[in-house]
Amino acid sequence: MSEQRPINVLFIASEAAPLIKVGGLGDVAGSLPKALRKILPAKMKGRALDVRLVIPFHSAITQRLDSLQLVAAFFVPHPKGKIAARAFQTSVEGVPVYLIEGSSILSDQSVYSSDPRVDANKFIFFSLAALEMARAISWPVDILHANDWHTAISVYDLKIRRPQDPFFKETKSVLSMHNMPYMGAGSESVIYEFGIPECTCHGLPEWARNIPLPLGMFAADYLLTVSPNYANEILTPQYGCGLQDFLNSRKETVAGILNGLDETKWDPNSDPSIHFNYGPAQLNIRKKNKLALQTEFGLDKDENIPLLILISRMDQQKGIDLAVQGLRLVQDLDWQVIFLGTGDPIIEAACRSLEVELPNRVRAAIRFDLNLSRRMYAGGDVLLIPSRYEPCGLTQMIAMRYGCVPLARSTGGLKDTIVDDSENESNNGFLFEEASPEDFATTIRRAIEVFLNRKSWQLLQVNGMKSDFSWEKSAMEYSMIYQKLLGEEA
Ligand code: ADP
Repeated sequence: MSEQRPINVLFIASEAAPLIKVGGLGDVAGSLPKALRKILPAKMKGRALDVRLVIPFHSAITQRLDSLQLVAAFFVPHPKGKIAARAFQTSVEGVPVYLIEGSSILSDQSVYSSDPRVDANKFIFFSLAALEMARAISWPVDILHANDWHTAISVYDLKIRRPQDPFFKETKSVLSMHNMPYMGAGSESVIYEFGIPECTCHGLPEWARNIPLPLGMFAADYLLTVSPNYANEILTPQYGCGLQDFLNSRKETVAGILNGLDETKWDPNSDPSIHFNYGPAQLNIRKKNKLALQTEFGLDKDENIPLLILISRMDQQKGIDLAVQGLRLVQDLDWQVIFLGTGDPIIEAACRSLEVELPNRVRAAIRFDLNLSRRMYAGGDVLLIPSRYEPCGLTQMIAMRYGCVPLARSTGGLKDTIVDDSENESNNGFLFEEASPEDFATTIRRAIEVFLNRKSWQLLQVNGMKSDFSWEKSAMEYSMIYQKLLGEEA
């Protein structure tokens, strides 16, 4: 291997913004490869990184691409006869992107299906095809970086084929877990149908031996979570999803690296979706956004009433029920709240019934609305994030960038990014420990007390707005792990 060649990193994900985005994973896959490619070799003291992204050619992205180049036509092994696949190349903001096409990818309209077998067929095919594509284009992969259950089988398959396959003999693997409880259960029979050998992996509990994410966790040379605190939490029974013993047995190769935020895309100074642009020195202008938001939702127009907001997928994970119940406990205080989200009908209904119960101060916007979310970050005083678990969380970082103060459960990446300590000069939000309405309510009381002291509140806002959530530091940490795996530590 030439010393001069860059480190080749194949970054494989089920979605990547701006081509296709459903959730936080899409944001990360869309921005991390770009940040990694920007690291100068001098800064990382070693070889440069040639990071290339590979995603499925979802039907939803067909129309959005004008310049596509067919770079490979190849086959994916299958016991019933090999399956044809093609790879198209494009470039997004300087990052080479491969789109993999094949019958199980094209046949489905949505990115994720509600049928686990449809998803299993699509993503297991894709995971195997990504490896075959690298061979087909003769691009030696130094690091295979997979993300979540959808691509975990590529890591497992790599481990199986590595000893006897010269092309992948030196390839090392990294698996990032953005949401560990989603393991790909329901894929068992599809794994079998693809002829992927059974795992005899000691250390993994029996129930986990034919589910994609645990297989990838077993096979990966390095396991990553998207925040340092969550990497510690998954070693415990509370957050380990039954895999904590296995994770503890390999904890030297488990780490957490905080997600960054694309600060050019989330900037209140230039955001075209908000009424009045502002920076940290213009909090007076920001108030106009609050009044506009109160007007939009038919709430009392009063800058002195704390305006709470919640922007979230409506999922058990997010603890929205704790907020709904907790708010009932602080009705003696003056506040308003706007919920924005969709998902679990029971949680949606809980938000709607609070609106019916307290029509003067509660609004429930049950939908996905990116522009509204931006107006809310720009006008809300407090963002509520009562999550039961949170691998990283982006909303608290966005809120802080917009001068909206986060009030969150002290868990996962929320704990890594929010400082709740009035003695600390980085103080920027409020944290509560217990996943209970009572603890949430006590913290709301504390937050409203600080809100009524204008100076203290502005300090919280400015601290948040000045926090560094850029990708640079995290990208360096990823590059160091790649180097470590290749035995090239600086
Ligand atoms: P997760 O990835 O678990 O859903 P994150 O906090 O990492 O949570 O990211 C959520 C992203 O989705 C944020 O950018 C947030 O603003 C956005 N979002 C969530 N729900 C909605 C909604 N109903 N309308 C608009 N944006 C939303």
